[in-house]
Amino acid sequence: MLDRFDFTGKVAVITGAGDGIGKAAACKFYEAGAMIVLVDRDVERLIDLERKNGWAEHRYLCCHADVSIENDVSAYIQKAVQRFGRIDVMFNNAGISINKPVIEVTQEDLIRYYSTNVWSIYYNLKHVIPTMSRTGGGSIINTASVDGFSGAINNTIYAGTKHAVLGLSKCAALETADKDIRINCICPGAVNTNIIRSYIEEGTAEEKAQREAYLKNLIPMGRFLEPDEVADYVLFLASDLSKYMTGSKLVIDGGRTLE
Ligand code: NAD
Repeated sequence: MLDRFDFTGKVAVITGAGDGIGKAAACKFYEAGAMIVLVDRDVERLIDLERKNGWAEHRYLCCHADVSIENDVSAYIQKAVQRFGRIDVMFNNAGISINKPVIEVTQEDLIRYYSTNVWSIYYNLKHVIPTMSRTGGGSIINTASVDGFSGAINNTIYAGTKHAVLGLSKCAALETADKDIRINCICPGAVNTNIIRSYIEEGTAEEKAQREAYLKNLIPMGRFLEPDEVADYVLFLASDLSKYMTGSKLVIDGGRTLE
């Protein structure tokens, strides 16, 4: 069973690897033996990761890139293939979130959030699928959210992007099933990263405590999910343990969205 979590000789590309869920997944893939390709638009975070982890040079590649720009995406996929010869796992994880009433949404907002959360996934699929096809298949994991199948106030933009991620992933999974390329989504609830922290940490100490308590009360398990825990599910979807799963969504939310 544990052997199936051995990624020795496999190549995993992780977007948004500089922080939060992506960083946790990058560390786990490395520990599991993979060659890792770390993509982030924040170069300082990539430098920090390299410095703190002391990874063996031949086992990782850092790519400073913006996933919402197709030329950036094609460039890091090319670099990864030049360096490691193949891509076995693609974790499309980079994303940003916003809370705003629907009547205040601007065209600029739509371009920013949809290009980062949705268009980026199209670009990554477009450029990685041909590569995976040539080398016998692979596993693609797209980060959606519980907001990809539920609604919340002031959340039209973020929820809209994550609904799109689930929808496009199902269609792409149908297109690649006969090529041994599996495409699945993870749908985390509230994860203890910057996204949640920056939402909680606005305002006075009392407001912060109230917001945190409010969010935790929505979760039957009563706590936020840790990035490390999300990473375990990502490795599961990347591994042969999930070899008959494609087009699925894995909900990791402590019971938050149960009816
Ligand atoms: P985070 O802010 O901790 O980390 C995101 C990383 O992505 C950062 O290092 C950032 O620099 C990078 N990034 C952002 N935009 C980018 C771009 N255009 N190009 C390249 N890199 C970019 O966030 P996180 O909480 O780890 O979120 C990761 C994913 O998980 C996102 O898709 C988010 O929507 C999703 N998610 C998060 C939560 C949560 O509660 N934190 C819940 C469900 C889903």
